[in-house]
Amino acid sequence: MSENLLHNIRLAIFDIDGTLTEIKPEIRAVKPRLVTPNHLGEQQPIAGVVEGLADLQARGIQMALATNRGGVAFGYNTLEEAQAIAREAAELCGIPDVKIYICPYHAKARGPETNHQFAKEDDCRKPNPGMLNQALADFGLAPHEAVFVGDKESDQLAAENANIRFLWADEFFQMI
Ligand SMILES: [Mg+2]
Repeated sequence: MSENLLHNIRLAIFDIDGTLTEIKPEIRAVKPRLVTPNHLGEQQPIAGVVEGLADLQARGIQMALATNRGGVAFGYNTLEEAQAIAREAAELCGIPDVKIYICPYHAKARGPETNHQFAKEDDCRKPNPGMLNQALADFGLAPHEAVFVGDKESDQLAAENANIRFLWADEFFQMI
């Protein structure tokens, strides 16, 4: 990874789905539209991610994860299940103790399984900047000291809304 890319960066925040992990091929074969795992055991690290994160750790760069889990609002899983699945992603990627920010809200959640507690808009849901702002506050850092790495336009916009530099995941992990 080039030195310039991480100049002055003390915290790298990552999206999870499609950034660090992907659905296992055998699961994708039966659930082709699945992007976010709903159960433990459905995900695997994307090629190059484990090595890239180890490289960051060796440089002393702190890390955090920030993931939308609107499925909790829809009732696909409980907040505790979503947390366990996100923690599984961290473990698979070799960063088991990383701080994880989860946003369980979704304004369009509906249907009999809806968890009404979370069926609303919230500042944490990307592209809103809530989780990134919270990470900056928790780590005691200014926006210019952090970078957000993601795979979707909502990630890019969240970074923009938090005044944090954004990098696309595929580019980031290819720069090793
Ligand atoms: Mg993603």
